[in-house]
Order: sequence, then structure tokens, then C-alpha cells
Amino acid sequence: MRQFMDPVTESLSELHERIGALRGGEVASYIPKLAQADPDDFGIALTSMAGHRYQAGKADAHFSIQSVSKPFVYALALTDLGPDEMLRRVGAEPSGEAFNAISLEPGTGRPANPMVNAGAIATTALVKAADPEERSARILDWLSAFAGRRLDHDEEVYASEAASGDRNRALAYLMRSAGSLDDDPYSVTDTYFRQCAVRVTAADLAVMAATLAKGGLNPCTGERVVTQDVAVRTLAIMATCGMYDGAGQWLLNVGLPAKSGVAGGLIAASPGRFGVALYSPPLDAEGNSVRGVAALTEMSERFALHLMHAPVHLTATVTDTVHAARSSRVRDPGQAAALDRDGRRIAVVGAQGDLEFTETEQLLNAVAHVVPADPGGVVLDLTAVTAVGAGPATMLAATLADLEHRGHQVAVAVQQPFLKDAVGHPGRWTDTRDDAVAWCEDRFLTERPAAS
Ligand code: GLU
Repeated sequence: MRQFMDPVTESLSELHERIGALRGGEVASYIPKLAQADPDDFGIALTSMAGHRYQAGKADAHFSIQSVSKPFVYALALTDLGPDEMLRRVGAEPSGEAFNAISLEPGTGRPANPMVNAGAIATTALVKAADPEERSARILDWLSAFAGRRLDHDEEVYASEAASGDRNRALAYLMRSAGSLDDDPYSVTDTYFRQCAVRVTAADLAVMAATLAKGGLNPCTGERVVTQDVAVRTLAIMATCGMYDGAGQWLLNVGLPAKSGVAGGLIAASPGRFGVALYSPPLDAEGNSVRGVAALTEMSERFALHLMHAPVHLTATVTDTVHAARSSRVRDPGQAAALDRDGRRIAVVGAQGDLEFTETEQLLNAVAHVVPADPGGVVLDLTAVTAVGAGPATMLAATLADLEHRGHQVAVAVQQPFLKDAVGHPGRWTDTRDDAVAWCEDRFLTERPAAS
């Protein structure tokens, strides 16, 4: 009998089986130890925003992280320096050149692209530390926090790269002479080689990518590793610079922030959805994993993951609008008559789901349509709203203030207290729609009391 397989694992397994048959590409050999990798090793792993982990093939095989470390160390330096200083020291331009190119800006010597060696070595040097040991330790701790487990170094890969890394040392000396590297070039490249030799699995890398996709929050450990802002900037760098000199075509075809490394690792992040990682050592002419590129290209097409895809809005935000509402509150005859006599009406708009820009725009449009021309009451029933983004919260607060300014009695009903905090409007908040309508009626009665 066929064993049950969840649909995500099934889809990864199917992809793994088909793409695994793909031949072609060369295992990197300029670092002698990497040449020993098995070209048939192939693993895929995916981590969801809920921290669920899926995998197929050799997703637990160890390999050295190499350039896949670069976005994470960039995030560390960015956290240490802040965005302005970071940009002053290392550019953010896809250089369209190979990973080991001498890609420095004329005049300043500033490396243009933080995702290829020159820019990455300069970035490593920016990680704050009292000495090289502390810098290496901070980088290892940092990568481990992204992975959600204690990582270590592949000492053999480190020794092999240290013994053959003169080109990277030359790049560092060049940057030092151009004024874009302050530290000792030999020791900085040594730290960089240790960084590249951190041992990971595809399963680790998927968690690391998922942490960026979740705005800096590790979905497996719950730890906030970086701020949302740092995660966004890091993903943006990956989107434009992550795939060596194939970055432009990658964004065109796959449309996801990604980073590859010469050992055959490749990560991609689908913001708000998942992090995915692949391991397969044979590389194409640009230095990207042949099977990794093929698998991610298919995944992106199959699940419509391209960043430029317009998001689909399936649920209607506005549930109902009421032109003139009355509460179920029992009023004494005098008050009931006063409310009947009062020409002012109370308009209600109900909404549901998560409020991002598109949903909030729909909601506010409905409010504009139903709001009384003369001062009256306006109730927003947000009891079925589950979340509100920061920008939309500002839109809502501005609308509430504007309605009050125009003389309306305004009340908002919410079930989730955080919505009130997010919107930050000081006005009337209630638990139910009926209470909100009753509050407007009470205001009417206070202003125009029942005749006694
Ligand atoms: N350690 C490798 C180097 O600097 C990393 C290169 C890469 O993965 O792009 O040559």
C-alpha cells in the first residue's frame, strides 16, 4: 500500500526525482576539497512560516555554506552599522561579473556588489569585533541563530581554501590599497574563509531562508534574529545580486530573492510563504547549481511565486453596509421617541480578514459611500478583522480622525485588542457592533435629550 505523503513533501519528492535525472555542470574545483563532492548528491528542503519542515533526497548531507553565507553576514554588518554607513562602505549594485571579479568602484575603491567575493570580504571586515577570533565566533553564532541549531566549521574545506585562496587575498589587498578595507587583508580573508567553511545541510539553509522570508523571525525557534527592516534589505540585495552574473536572468525567470554558493548550495525566499534550499554540487557557467536552478525555476512557475505576480485577493473585505442602524438596546419610551425624532442616522460598515492596502482601500471606499452627508454616526465593525498592516492602520486612523472632525460620532467594534493598538486612534472602541451603535445613540441622546 502506498504510504501517505503530505502534498508538500510529495511535490518536493516528485521534483527531486525528475530534476535528479538532470546531468551537466561541473563541480567546483578551484578549492581542491570541493572537487571531492559527489555530483549525484541532491537534496531539497523547505521550511514554512509555521516552522514546518519538509524535505526530499539528501537534505541532511553536509556541505560548506560558501557564498550562501554572504546575505546573512551582510545582515549582521547591516545590523552593526545601520543602512547609511553600510551603503557607504559596500555598494548594492549587481555587478554582472563573476564571483571572483575585481569589482571595485573607480575612485573610492568601494566594492559594488556585496554578494560576490570583493564586496563580501569587505562586508565580513565590517562585522564589529575586538579581534579576528571574536569576529569568526560572532559570524558562527549568527549563522547558527538563522539555522536554529549550533553550526560548526568544516576544517578540511577551510584548510583547503586557506591554502589556495590567493586570489581572494589579492582582492583584499587591492581594497586595502584603495582605502575600502581598514583591517589587515590577510586576517580578514582568513575570517572570510572560515565563514565560507561553515557546515550546513539543505535542511539548515531552508530554515535560514525562511527566517528572512518571515521578516527576520526564525519560524522554528521563534527567535527574532534580525529586524524586519534588515530582513527586507537583505532580501532586496539577494533579489538583485544573489546569483552572480546570472542575477538579472534569475529575477526575470524565477523572481525570488536567492543566493547560491560554489559548493552547490542554493537558497530562495518567498516572502511570507517559505524558505527553500537545494544542494547539488554541479555548477553552470555562472557558478549556480544546475539542478538547483532547474528545480527552483519549476517551483516558481508551478506555484506562481514570482515576486512581480499581482497577489490574488480571494475574500471580500466588506461584509455588509447598513444605511441607518439601530441598536437592540431597550430604551424607555421617551428616549425611543427622541431617537425616532432625531434626523441623524448611524451608518455601519462591516469588514473581515486581513487589512492590507487593497482591502483597506475597499473598506474606506465603502465608508465614503455610506457615511451621512450631515453629522451623524459612523460605526466600523472590525470584529471579523484578523490583522492590519502598518500602512493600512495609518489610513484607518486618518479616516477616523477625519470623520470625527466632520462632526460624526464614530465608534469601532473589535474583537482583537491589538487592532486598537495598531490603529492607535483614541476614540470609542467597543467589543460588538451593537455596543458601538448603542454608543452613538447614547451620544445623540446626550446632545438632544428626550423631552421629559
Ligand atoms: N569561498 C568561496 C570563494 O571565495 C566562495 C565563493 C562562492 O561561493 O561564490 O571563492
